Amino acid sequence: MRTGRHCPRCGDDMVQGLTEGTFTGWRNDGLSGMTRTVKFMCTGCGYIEERAVNSKYLRRTR
Ligand SMILES: [Zn+2]
Repeated sequence: MRTGRHCPRCGDDMVQGLTEGTFTGWRNDGLSGMTRTVKFMCTGCGYIEERAVNSKYLRRTR
């Protein structure tokens, strides 16, 4: 699956990984929150970038 993303290191194409991960952190209201993450891998140099699906979730205050 082509993502249209380009590697920040070498500029080659990146592909999206099939497996999902999770990220757990503290929100502003003191509760912990979790969001899913996806990974992208560069087909040129092997650089892997992991991104949250919903990065704004942990910023929610109420
Ligand atoms: Zn690369």
